[in-house]
Amino acid sequence: MPKGEVQTLRSNDRRLIAERFWSRVKLVPGNNPKLGYCWEWTGARDRDGYGQFRYQRRQSKAHRVVLILLGVNLSKPQSAHRCDNPPCVRPSHLFAATPRENTIDMMAKGRHVYVCNLPRVLAARNRRGVN
Ligand SMILES: [Zn+2]
Repeated sequence: MPKGEVQTLRSNDRRLIAERFWSRVKLVPGNNPKLGYCWEWTGARDRDGYGQFRYQRRQSKAHRVVLILLGVNLSKPQSAHRCDNPPCVRPSHLFAATPRENTIDMMAKGRHVYVCNLPRVLAARNRRGVN
């Protein structure tokens, strides 16, 4: 996502986008009782379960758009979940992360098995002669 995206959202656009955005969210009990309810995306999802939201002729991930709408400076390129519920868009369940931090968090929680096919990765690495 390009830098400076927050600045390109005018306040009127932001209001209209936010209205459309929040109409697609419902409350569901989360995986982690300490975190409370998840705010789950009811609109389209990608194959990994992340909410998809289209605005300004751009298809974005819903859990990323929510941080942008809140004016969070996404200097780090990814938005990661504390609750491990991909369609969740509750701001307190999200944090900005680098791809490396996101991967470390995902592996610590054992979630990488869903998104990473290790045998395939190792086979590709062997083909390239990297160990
Ligand atoms: Zn959540």
